[in-house]
Amino acid sequence: MNVKLDLLGDRQRTHYCGELRKEHARQTVFLAGWVDVRRDLGNLIFLDLRDHTGRTQIVCNPAISAEVHDKAEEIRAEYVVGVEGEVVVRAPGTVNPQLATGEVEVMARTLLVLNEAKTPPFPIEDETKTSEETRLRYRYLDLRRGRMQRNLRLRHRASEVVRAHLGEHGFQEIETPFMTRSTPEGARDYLVPSRLHHGRFYALPQSPQLFKQLLMIGGFDRYYQIVRCFRDEDLRADRQPEFTQIDIEMAFPQRDVLFDIIERLMEKLFALVDVTVERPFPRMAYDEGMEKYGSDKPHTGFSLEWKRVSLAADALEKVRVAQPIKAMRVPGWSGASRSQLDKLQETTKSLGADWFSYIKVTGPAPQSPLTKALGEPAVAALATSVEAQPGDLVLLLGIKSASSRDAFRMLDNASGELRLDIARKLELLEPGTWNFIWVVDFPMFEYDEKEKRFAAMHHPFTSPREEDLEKLETDPRAVKARAYDLVLNGSEIGGGSIRIHRQDIQRRVFKVLGLSEEQARERFGFFLNALEYGTPPHGGIALGHDRINALMAGESSIREVIAFPKTASAIDMMCDAPAGVEREQLFELGLVHEYEGGSCEECGGQWVFEYETIARGGSFSFAPPEVTCPVGGQRRVVLRYSGRWGAKHMHPTTRQWEVLRQFS
Ligand code: ASP
Repeated sequence: MNVKLDLLGDRQRTHYCGELRKEHARQTVFLAGWVDVRRDLGNLIFLDLRDHTGRTQIVCNPAISAEVHDKAEEIRAEYVVGVEGEVVVRAPGTVNPQLATGEVEVMARTLLVLNEAKTPPFPIEDETKTSEETRLRYRYLDLRRGRMQRNLRLRHRASEVVRAHLGEHGFQEIETPFMTRSTPEGARDYLVPSRLHHGRFYALPQSPQLFKQLLMIGGFDRYYQIVRCFRDEDLRADRQPEFTQIDIEMAFPQRDVLFDIIERLMEKLFALVDVTVERPFPRMAYDEGMEKYGSDKPHTGFSLEWKRVSLAADALEKVRVAQPIKAMRVPGWSGASRSQLDKLQETTKSLGADWFSYIKVTGPAPQSPLTKALGEPAVAALATSVEAQPGDLVLLLGIKSASSRDAFRMLDNASGELRLDIARKLELLEPGTWNFIWVVDFPMFEYDEKEKRFAAMHHPFTSPREEDLEKLETDPRAVKARAYDLVLNGSEIGGGSIRIHRQDIQRRVFKVLGLSEEQARERFGFFLNALEYGTPPHGGIALGHDRINALMAGESSIREVIAFPKTASAIDMMCDAPAGVEREQLFELGLVHEYEGGSCEECGGQWVFEYETIARGGSFSFAPPEVTCPVGGQRRVVLRYSGRWGAKHMHPTTRQWEVLRQFS
């Protein structure tokens, strides 16, 4: 690569590469961008010049400029060039209808080669088969692809819509700290060690939850922030260690008012991709979602629904399965093959539901493996309980023995997965459906069978329903929270709650969670103090900006709408982060100790010093600490002291180590 490069000088672009049309004919223009393709027809060389707006064909004709043609011979894909020339209308047979600028081309009079480029590891094209790993390693090239440009520009417009909409409704954008202490979402924290306070750590916020509540206490009335949140979780397919929330909180909230604000926001956001959103969104209680759809984020866009049914008492003697079981009618699938049914059974088993059966409603006598044990009338009754019609298949799902509530939760989850599996098989998920739904009335607590204690299903600052307050101590399982999730096409795109604003209730909730007064103070003391100074009723929500944008852009992975995402194993392929650091940085942060040994001049034994950090240059502003040789009695200054330290001495004859000072 040794092309002579030109300088841009004071040349100014007159147009972008996607702008020129017939009406620009005969104008002299100056375009600049990347060479997308170069076609050398011997006499003529064509360059497709690309920028974020599109492409324009440039003609390098030696009859117009021999210099331009000579330079064009050297040019390769992804070189950065500037072109001055005249716009001409293409001859009828040479119009390119694929290109927005396809009716014109620019006859180059001047060609500036502004920069050369190595051959890129993959072609810069909208559709690519390149592995995601390579794309992420060269993300700056991947970002030049039209698809990434469209996705991130859409995201920018979405952020603008969010800001405008929330601004109109009186919400203030306020930044909250990234270096803080543990927040209540309950995932693992990313920690930042403090150099000035060894042994202490900041935590990166899992969300601004407590800060937004403090802003309500601080009188801001309505807050929002498009904000990064950090959770050190084992990454499931579509998670990122840092992700973006549209975080919202309001004082004196009414759920309906908040829902309306969010629904109108969704309407405006989806209008960006020409989708009409129907308001108001339906609401569904969590319990109903679990029964009918086996999910706390139900996709209700297709009509497969489970129902909990119980077998009659005499049937139970013949079939060993815990009650209730779940039944679902699959319209028109009585022709399901043996192997299809076997596969469904395998799937459900792997999901933890170990009892599976079915009824084929073919004619007057339904066919089912259960007929032998239960008899035809009982099987027919089961089919009727889900209103099965001739031609339908009824699936039955259960667990053989239910030792705990967990088992039924597993059954629900399995039923939900199976439902989605069937919807995919039967192609019931129609593209272009936008199924928004609010899930409400979540249980306040989940019982953790392993730890034998209750945990907050949302977070511990979520308010119980007012009518359930008395049950807090007597029947925590029955308490419902004032929490809600926004679900779109079976994905949770937001979640929030009306919060606890009273100390007494907060204390009672902590008690159910098994948090002692001290533990609660230790974790959230600053917040509990604030609650005592006139906290208004408040509540809010956080929406998943990444997921919403992915859905809007028609992408299945949120990585496609994040400029520099990490892989599923939390690695930044481009910067190669996380990375090692200099040992010195670790010393400074008090994260490692250094050992130093040597013989003791006084007695001929040995010293070992353990230092937290290395004192560097300068002089001590205080008397340096000393240790005394336990054999000869001479003092030795601990020269490299700055931070914690320790010292050991080995006796010259017994060779026994004596700890003179424990590292502390
Ligand atoms: N902070 C919560 C979360 O990130 C959302 C909320 O309650 O507003 O899940």
